[in-house]
Amino acid sequence: MTTRKLLLLPGDGIGPEAMAEVEAIVAILNAETGAGFETERALVGGAAFDAHGAPISDADMALAMAADAVLFGAVGGPKWDTVPYEKRPEAGLLRLRKDMALFANLRPAICYPALAEASSLKRKLVDGLDILILRELTGGVYFGEPKEIVDLGNGQKRGVDTQVYETYEIERIARAAFEAARTRRGKVTSMEKRNVMKTGVLWNEVVTRVGREEYPDVTLEHMLADAGGMQLVRAPKQFDVIVTDNLFGDMLSDIAAMLTGSLGMLPSASLGAVDAATGRRKALYEPVHGSAPDIAGQGIANPIAMIASFAMMLRYSFAMQREADALEAAIASVLENGIRTGDIMAPGARQVGTREMGAAVAAAFRERLAA
Ligand code: NAD
Repeated sequence: MTTRKLLLLPGDGIGPEAMAEVEAIVAILNAETGAGFETERALVGGAAFDAHGAPISDADMALAMAADAVLFGAVGGPKWDTVPYEKRPEAGLLRLRKDMALFANLRPAICYPALAEASSLKRKLVDGLDILILRELTGGVYFGEPKEIVDLGNGQKRGVDTQVYETYEIERIARAAFEAARTRRGKVTSMEKRNVMKTGVLWNEVVTRVGREEYPDVTLEHMLADAGGMQLVRAPKQFDVIVTDNLFGDMLSDIAAMLTGSLGMLPSASLGAVDAATGRRKALYEPVHGSAPDIAGQGIANPIAMIASFAMMLRYSFAMQREADALEAAIASVLENGIRTGDIMAPGARQVGTREMGAAVAAAFRERLAA
């Protein structure tokens, strides 16, 4: 029997509450399909700092490197606001991303029809929206050197960040976007600012070549990133897969997120390169939201972003499309039935807590697996 090794890193705040609901779903999958998931839990963020004095220990980092996939909750909270900068909770996530070389960040923006009223846009613009944003995660202006503030000695300072991309970095994120488009509606929109940035010119050139030579079956269009932002709020359903750099991706994926209503609904995946020997990619899945200290420990957090992150794992790490579809359909049906956590509450719906929402999704999932 295949075994699939999952490392669960619940983290801080609502992370552990939401993670518990995924563990119940993993148990159902194992029981109903013999999927052979083996889970192990480890510490990250403030919880790891309290136990080990570091936001992730070397031993837990080794577990992450050895796992078939990592599921991450959330980190941070006021308790750790004063710990040294390099040991702050977020540094645990940054180390995971760096050591696992996770260069592609995938953020779907899906608007469940039952939640279309929660969007900042009109229902007709977002109802049934299903787009995927791929953001380059390990290069660009957040990491380029020089990165400094220089004292000019005349009462002035100069702040410098450097936007830099090499061919291979653009090629690999482009390939990840084209591959994703092949499993969806077959269209990629690449966004950069080639009108004012050299990295934009190179980005455009490389994505065009990769598309032409390796993915002629996928439709490729280019858009300046600022125009792309405008189109995202004007007519978001025109997009299928959007691929863009680290900085633009950071902003555009947050804009797309708000089209769908609530932070508690949004999953994400971060993928590394495919290992030629094993055919596996390193991968980490996490909800977009943070540790929500304002509601932590109250049993009211929405576990759907966490559960949907696990659905992405089924899809992208284990090619379990049927099971991923079943889990996403289970989420949609629970919402359709008017069951809501507080963050997505609507008039006439029934408000439930984390446990009850998790149990409702789990029950709908079990039914679909059995069907
Ligand atoms: P947040 O996402 O934690 O919370 C923002 C708001 O959304 C809060 O009102 C919260 O209650 C609500 N919310 C978020 N997720 C929810 C859910 N699943 N169900 C119901 N409501 C939900 O962002 P923040 O308040 O800016 O940050 C809180 C802490 O989380 C900080 O320490 C921050 O550094 C950290 N953070 C961590 C990550 C991460 O781990 N990847 C991401 C963002 C923020």
